[in-house]
Amino acid sequence: MKIETAKHSGFCFGVKRAIQIATETAQNNKKTVTLGPIIHNPQMVEFLMKKGLHSVDDIKDITDETVIIRSHGITAENYKLLVERGLNFVDATCPFVKKAQEYAQKLTDDGYQLYILGEKDHPEVEALLSYIDDSAVVITNPDVDFKKPTQRKVALIAQTTQSEEKFEGLAKKLIHFSEELYVVKTICNATILRQETTRNLSQKVDIMIVIGGKNSANTTRLAEIARAEGCKTFHIETEGELKDVWFKDVDNVGISAGASTPNWIINSVKEKIKKINETK
Ligand code: SF4
Repeated sequence: MKIETAKHSGFCFGVKRAIQIATETAQNNKKTVTLGPIIHNPQMVEFLMKKGLHSVDDIKDITDETVIIRSHGITAENYKLLVERGLNFVDATCPFVKKAQEYAQKLTDDGYQLYILGEKDHPEVEALLSYIDDSAVVITNPDVDFKKPTQRKVALIAQTTQSEEKFEGLAKKLIHFSEELYVVKTICNATILRQETTRNLSQKVDIMIVIGGKNSANTTRLAEIARAEGCKTFHIETEGELKDVWFKDVDNVGISAGASTPNWIINSVKEKIKKINETK
């Protein structure tokens, strides 16, 4: 059985950077917390917790700890609270997320009705929305929840981990209903490469194993992409979820992993698949 891993898999630049900032801060300052889980990978969050880096969901629960702002960014309200309370904080927001926030602000200031392709409840989108007025429209799937713009000038951006295909679909729909359409592709390159290599790999293997948090939007999207190619796909968090029966009569296995999946999990999944193969 051949096992191939998608060329672009696992930790992206923004996640590596956030973890490095958080661990270095925690080394120098024992009382360090992250505001919300630093990344959407429960195993990595647990690993960091064992090293003393805890996550806190509500600023009210923070007393004198140094606060790490995670790669998804922070809402304007929470930012204000951090400043007002005089808390010490370190900003690990991914620069690509920051860029999307800046575009959101600039485009709404310039009078565009802003469309965001994304998930309303995702912390990155919650943060984006908090910096602009409430005329912005969030669309998760242009084929399902599209709403016509109510203004003449329309702008479109995306949550950084969205699919290019859906983004193009939404742009095409908006072009019909606007006089002026300003499109900024804020999907990051790490996302594009992970999606592309997952799509290509899933076209040539019998099954795909996509590794990453079940709460990770970008990993879930990779699994959706592989399924859309007609490839039997399993989304798992750890090797413990692998089942021997999945590999019966399988010659080629593809592996892909979201931007928040650490290498040690990818490697243990590979090792377990090799062991399953040996006992076939
Ligand atoms: S997926 Fe992209 S935007 Fe998100 S943290 Fe990684 S590099 Fe940054």
